[in-house]
Amino acid sequence: MTPGPVPVPPNILKVLSEPVVHHRTESFSKTINSVLLQLTQVFQTKNPSLTLNGWGTTGMEAALVNTLSPGDELLVIEAGKFGERWTEIANAYHIKPIVLKIPWGKIPSLDQVEELIKKNPKAKALACQACETSTGVSFPIQKMGELIAKTDMLFIVDAITALGAYPMPMDDWQLDVVIGGSQKAFMLPAGLSFISLSQKAWQHNKSSKLPKYTLDLAAELEANNKQQTQFSSSTSMLLALDEVLKLMLNPSLNDFFKTTQKRSDYFKKKCIESGLKIFGESPSTSLTVIEVPAGIDGEKIQKSILQNHNILVAGGQDQLKGKILRVGHMGHMTLDDLDETLTAIKKTLA
Ligand SMILES: *Cc1c(COP(=O)(O)O)cnc(C)c1O
Repeated sequence: MTPGPVPVPPNILKVLSEPVVHHRTESFSKTINSVLLQLTQVFQTKNPSLTLNGWGTTGMEAALVNTLSPGDELLVIEAGKFGERWTEIANAYHIKPIVLKIPWGKIPSLDQVEELIKKNPKAKALACQACETSTGVSFPIQKMGELIAKTDMLFIVDAITALGAYPMPMDDWQLDVVIGGSQKAFMLPAGLSFISLSQKAWQHNKSSKLPKYTLDLAAELEANNKQQTQFSSSTSMLLALDEVLKLMLNPSLNDFFKTTQKRSDYFKKKCIESGLKIFGESPSTSLTVIEVPAGIDGEKIQKSILQNHNILVAGGQDQLKGKILRVGHMGHMTLDDLDETLTAIKKTLA
């Protein structure tokens, strides 16, 4: 019941257990084509979307190395563990991060974002999370997109727990780079990340001088246009993704979003009715973060829930260690699973 990896649907597990196929075949080219077309519908974009072998973090790294050059200024909003990751990647590539630190559990106000942009007109891009999974908050991405679209900056969004979980239409909201990950809303094991770039971002790609080889998105796109991937495809994962995307898009993406929303609303309401407090400002649909009551060690609670109820929920990281419990709403689960989880949490706390 963690916010990633998430439970994988049984029919997808079956696809993952099939014999491994070769990637340079006509039949697999069809799979690549089908995956990329459907993926574009999840990004809700007219631009191409790409898959990369690797972590969600690989997608974040690809976003920066394909749009920026050494010495470029990057605005970063750090509101949790994953925000900090943008700064770490920037430092690794000699990009100059200019960081707006937000207390964990809070989101930036639009005034703060506007001020950050105005104070740093030379910055090439702004990077943040759509949903900061370490605190369970969701950022005002649409409104931020409106602010950034008025500038030459790119808006780079780590949507690893947002893409496929709740509506975030990339083109309508003027987002320039959006990243998703396989083990979150896409209900697969970890190992793939997904990325799409706006036309504005592809323009920046042309002048980007940071080193890139396996993560060269222009080269990957060229291979995709021939219904191939640059290097060996993760065939089993892509075959499973093809099926996952069918689940997500049928009957419609909106219906899929509604399922996640329903779980989130249901669980949050039940938590509040039970006297538990939801952590943070602007709680996300993708997960529920419960505040552990003062004086109780959340790490012990988390371990005990696993030991006595065989349910794995996530704890807090770094400064939130022992202070919160995080329950995911993505993946293959029922409302009964959520009931059982809440019962286990309540019994353990008592
Ligand atoms: C899970 C997650 C990541 C990291 O994904 P990895 O596959 O572990 O690299 C990054 N950002 C957010 C918001 C996430 O939830």
